Amino acid sequence: MIRTELAIVGAGPAGVCAALEAASYGVKVTLLDREQWIGGQLVKQTHKFFGWYEKSAGTRGVVIAKDLAVKVKANPDIRFMGSTEVLGYYQADGVLLLETPQGIQTLKPERLLVATGASEKMILFPGNDLPGVYGAGAVQTLMNVHGVRPGKSVLMIGSGNIGLIVSYQMAQAGVKVAAVVEALPHIGGYAVHASKIRRLGIPIYTRHTIKEAYGTDCVEGAVIWQLDDDWQGIPGTEKQLDVDVICLATGLTPLCEFLWQAGAEMTDIPELGGFVPLYDEHMETTAKGIYVAGDAAGIEEASTAMAEGRLAGLAIAYSLGKVPDHEFSRKRQDCLKELAELRAGPTSQAILKGLAAMREQMGKQARAQTRKKVRS
Ligand SMILES: Cc1cc2nc3c(=O)[nH]c(=O)nc-3n(C[C@H](O)[C@H](O)[C@H](O)COP(=O)(O)OP(=O)(O)OC[C@H]3O[C@@H](n4cnc5c(N)ncnc54)[C@H](O)[C@@H]3O)c2cc1C
Repeated sequence: MIRTELAIVGAGPAGVCAALEAASYGVKVTLLDREQWIGGQLVKQTHKFFGWYEKSAGTRGVVIAKDLAVKVKANPDIRFMGSTEVLGYYQADGVLLLETPQGIQTLKPERLLVATGASEKMILFPGNDLPGVYGAGAVQTLMNVHGVRPGKSVLMIGSGNIGLIVSYQMAQAGVKVAAVVEALPHIGGYAVHASKIRRLGIPIYTRHTIKEAYGTDCVEGAVIWQLDDDWQGIPGTEKQLDVDVICLATGLTPLCEFLWQAGAEMTDIPELGGFVPLYDEHMETTAKGIYVAGDAAGIEEASTAMAEGRLAGLAIAYSLGKVPDHEFSRKRQDCLKELAELRAGPTSQAILKGLAAMREQMGKQARAQTRKKVRS
């Protein structure tokens, strides 16, 4: 069995920033990822980052990933185990089960950080199981990591930043983008991304969705239609599109299976993407010694994932007795200030509402625990 002070599942921006922060205090870190690379989603993000200028906005995600990978590899306190899938967490023993290139292994950490990111949401429509229906992240991986075009002509569902950016990247790669459809009455992503799409002559239909996909062995076409005020399709408004790819950019949901397995309290908060763990201001969940950061804690952006990762790494190093009190409270304040600044924009209002709901439940849970202790 491998033993380590801190195991981090996920070498995306959250996991890597946590690893670097904890290792800067001498914590021995084992950083695990099922991919062979460091950087998580960043490695496929060839676009210039949106966000806050001082925090990497304007830099391509893939460049940020390379920079983080260099720092991890240069740090003797971080052991990166790539191509290693974490299969499960055994609560009774506090052990992770790993599938490594050398075979099955077990790992017992003193602290665990879950930074596993998110998975893509599927939507229901006839034909959604045909080959040719992809998530936007999968399309990005195919094109930007493996250099493979997903098909010749695509229907994009969802006009958030991800839908808009991936549509643009497909157009750049020579895939015809037949249309972008959006169920809401307005475009979800930033105007700058929508304008780039429109300048290429790609129509964006708001208040529209997919009615069905059709084809014998794979997608051969799709039908879209307009929605009424009750989100029902309006008969007679159907448009048929000749596409071989349907790309879903309909949202992400936190990937937190290990937190369920660890017995952490979970709650469904739509503003954060679905079920998320309750966690305190140190990113520690209700399962003692188990922390969370990044999209696994609630769907946001890479910039917030990095700041949460630093906060979790700092708190973990502190919990292991490696950070002096005064330094911990100063650096913790810096992290919290950075997170508040990153969430200050109008697009973060829903996130703030979701976080407030999560904290309220966390408070209730803590009060219930105290009452239980007093009674016993
Ligand atoms: C198309 C697209 C464009 C985006 N553009 C921007 C942008 O411009 N600006 C911005 O700030 N944000 C952007 N984002 C969001 C940003 O990429 C994410 O918020 C960020 O990557 C989340 O970081 P993370 O570390 O939490 O998770 P991830 O980056 O998803 O990393 C999680 C890692 O965990 C690993 N993992 C998961 N489960 C296991 C397991 N069981 N075993 C081993 N490893 C596991 C995964 O392989 C992955 O490497 C974009 C997202 C997408 C999809």
